[in-house]
Amino acid sequence: MPEPVPVDHDLTERAVRVIDRSGWGTSAAYPQIRTVTLTWVCPACHGPRGIPKEHRFHEDGHWLTCDRWDNPCGHLDLYTAVLAQARERHPAGPRP
Ligand SMILES: [Zn+2]
Repeated sequence: MPEPVPVDHDLTERAVRVIDRSGWGTSAAYPQIRTVTLTWVCPACHGPRGIPKEHRFHEDGHWLTCDRWDNPCGHLDLYTAVLAQARERHPAGPRP
């Protein structure tokens, strides 16, 4: 049983699954799902980010699950920017 994801508007950090198409740390051709822990504020305006929802999709013969969210402030969080933010926090890369 997976732990339920807390839905707490005061949460300042959150672990989310994002799509990494950079091939970072892998030679796999299909996108990697990475779990990254982020400071849960919009990098553009520092307002709170929205609540993530699980998104399941099919790509290159693999079923993948990531998290998607909309920010109440309307700024878009791109996965590439999110991954760059995660790398700043963990320069050695995320733990598996
Ligand atoms: Zn914003």
